Amino acid sequence: MELSKKRRKKLQSVVDQDYGYRRYEDRDVYVYDHGGKLGCGVFAARQFLPGELVIEIKGQLIPAAEYDGSTYAMHLEDDWYLEPVIPGAFINHSCSPNCDLVQVTATTNGLIARCNIEAGTELCFDYQWDAQWWIPRCRCGARDCRGWVVGEDQVKKMKKIAARNKKAK
Ligand SMILES: [Zn+2]
Repeated sequence: MELSKKRRKKLQSVVDQDYGYRRYEDRDVYVYDHGGKLGCGVFAARQFLPGELVIEIKGQLIPAAEYDGSTYAMHLEDDWYLEPVIPGAFINHSCSPNCDLVQVTATTNGLIARCNIEAGTELCFDYQWDAQWWIPRCRCGARDCRGWVVGEDQVKKMKKIAARNKKAK
């Protein structure tokens, strides 16, 4: 069956719209698989200047009451969590990051460049998790690495939990 001209035009506009979005991501950032334990990371495909919005992070919204502690979920205002889609889900933590995570709209976060970022650099932000009952070891390699993927104010608590876990073994 032949599509009508009008229908074809409409479908094409949908395709173009999607393509435009993909192209936007391809031009600015790319996902690279380090392999093994390191997993995936997101890299700059071009230079970013300090304060520049690198990507907007979108995803599924989860009410805080139903949040089950997925490691990728990000906290939003008003008791909502954002479960980011790719590439947002693959951005790694660093204790000395080159990006900041800020809320840009009611339902999205943004990754903002903290410093000059050259093309080919891995993008990361400080997850600042609360201390966890499990051990979220950090291997970011930063000079001032806190040892765990937790916020500065959570390090003491994390040390206690780690010591307790050691004894239990
Ligand atoms: Zn670290």
